[in-house]
Amino acid sequence: MDCDVLIVGAGPVGSFAAETIAASGFKVVILEEHKTIGEPLQCAGLISPRAVELAGVGRDIVINEIRGLRVFSPLGGSLHAESNQVFSLAVDRALLDQKLAERAENAGALLLTKTRVTGLEPVKEGYHATAVRDGRTINIKARLVIGADGIASKTAQWLGLGHKNPRAVMYSAEIKLPRNNTASVDVFLGHEFAPGWFGWLIPLDENTCRVGTGCAFMENHPPPRYYFEKMAGAFPEIFRGLKVLRYTGGSVPLGPMPKIFTSHAMLVGDAASQTKPISGGGIYTGLRAAQICAETAVGALMEEDLTENRLYHYQEQWNKEMGGELNRAMGYRKSFLNLSDKNIDLLIRFLNKPMWLNTILHYGDIDYPSRLALKMCLLNPLARVFFRNAGQTTTPSFPTVKTNSDSKHPAQKID
Ligand SMILES: Cc1cc2nc3c(=O)[nH]c(=O)nc-3n(C[C@H](O)[C@H](O)[C@H](O)COP(=O)(O)OP(=O)(O)OC[C@H]3O[C@@H](n4cnc5c(N)ncnc54)[C@H](O)[C@@H]3O)c2cc1C
Repeated sequence: MDCDVLIVGAGPVGSFAAETIAASGFKVVILEEHKTIGEPLQCAGLISPRAVELAGVGRDIVINEIRGLRVFSPLGGSLHAESNQVFSLAVDRALLDQKLAERAENAGALLLTKTRVTGLEPVKEGYHATAVRDGRTINIKARLVIGADGIASKTAQWLGLGHKNPRAVMYSAEIKLPRNNTASVDVFLGHEFAPGWFGWLIPLDENTCRVGTGCAFMENHPPPRYYFEKMAGAFPEIFRGLKVLRYTGGSVPLGPMPKIFTSHAMLVGDAASQTKPISGGGIYTGLRAAQICAETAVGALMEEDLTENRLYHYQEQWNKEMGGELNRAMGYRKSFLNLSDKNIDLLIRFLNKPMWLNTILHYGDIDYPSRLALKMCLLNPLARVFFRNAGQTTTPSFPTVKTNSDSKHPAQKID
C-alpha cells in the first residue's frame, strides 16, 4: 500500500493531525494497534473548555463542569477556592478519541485498527513501514511518517529521535464514592504519598469520581498503587468506603525532547513529550501540536519538500508558541520539588486568604499556569522569590505558621 502520510497511533493527537491532512486532499493512513479507539483508557479526562473548543467535538463529551479546587497539604493545611466560572471539564475521554477518529475517517483518512506497526525503514523519498494485522504482515510506503504512538513511541526509536525523558508514573482509577461537592476537584500534596507528583480527585457526579496519585519515576520506587493506598489512608474522611470501578493508570513524559522531526518524519503528542510539566495533561498541548504538525505537513507535501530543513518549521513553530510556557512550568515544577512537606503546608496556609483565593480563581488556567504565577508575582514579593527561584536548587521559604499535625499517615486498604 502507498500513501502520502502514515500516522502511527489513533490517539486524539494522531487522529486530529490526520483529519487536517486528509481534508487537504492527501492520502492518509492511520494504523492503531488496539481494537477499540480510546481503549484501554489511561487518562483522568480533565481538560480546559479551551481544549474542548479546539477539538471541536461538541459538549456531549462533557460529564461534569469543574468550578473550583480544594488543595490539601500532608500536614493538615487546606484551601478551597470555588466560583461560578467553569475552569475545567471532566470529559468522556474514550468518546473524545472516537469522535476525532471518526472525523479523520470522514475527511478521507483510512483507519486500520488491530494493526500494530512493527518497523520503519528509510527508503528513497520516504519510509517503508511494516505492520501486523490479524497475524498477517502489511507493507506500507509513505512519503511522510507521523509518530503519534504515545509515551512508549517505537516510531521515535526507529527514527533515531528516542530520548529518555523523565516521567511521572500514576495509579489512576474510576471509583464509586459518595460526594457532596461535585463542583471542585481535590489536589493532594505530600512527599509520602505523591513523591514528585500530586494526588487528585475529580468528581463526576454525587457517586462517581476519578482519583489517582503518582510519583516521579525512579527505578526502585514501589508501584504507584502503594502511594494511592497511602493517600487514601491519609485522608480517610474523603476516601472512606471507595470502590474501584476500573483502573486507568499509566505514565506521562515530562520535559521537552531535543528533536521531534527528521527528514520525511515528525513526532507529535506524548511521543514528542508535548505534555504540561505541572499537571501531566497532554490533550490540549497535543492537539495544538497536532495542528502545527499537520499544517507543516500540508505545506511540505504541497511544496514536495519533506527535507529536514522544511520540517524544522514544525519544531520551530511549536517552540515559539508553547516553549516559553512549558519551560516556565518546568521551572515551577523544579521549585515545587524542592519544597519540604512543611513548606508545602506553609504555602497552602499562606494562600488560604481571600486575596489569593480570588487571584487563583481569576487567573488560574490549567493550560497556561504562568499567567497565575505572573499575577502572584505582581501581588507579593514572596511569590516573586518562589517563582524567580523556579529551576534553581535553593529551597524557597514561606512565612512560618505553627502546625501540630502528624505527617505519618497509615495506609488505607483499597477494595
Ligand atoms: C493516568 C493518566 C491521567 C491523565 N490525565 C490527563 C488529564 O486529565 N488531562 C489531560 O489533558 N491529559 C491527561 N493525561 C495525558 C493524556 O492521556 C495524554 O497526553 C494523551 O493521551 C496523549 O495523546 P496521544 O494521542 O499523543 O497519545 P495516546 O493517547 O497515548 O495514543 C497513542 C496511540 O498509539 C497507539 N500505538 C502505540 N504504538 C503503536 C504501534 N506500534 N502501532 C500502532 N498503534 C500504536 C496506542 O494504542 C494509542 O492508541 C493523563 C495520562 C495518564 C497516564
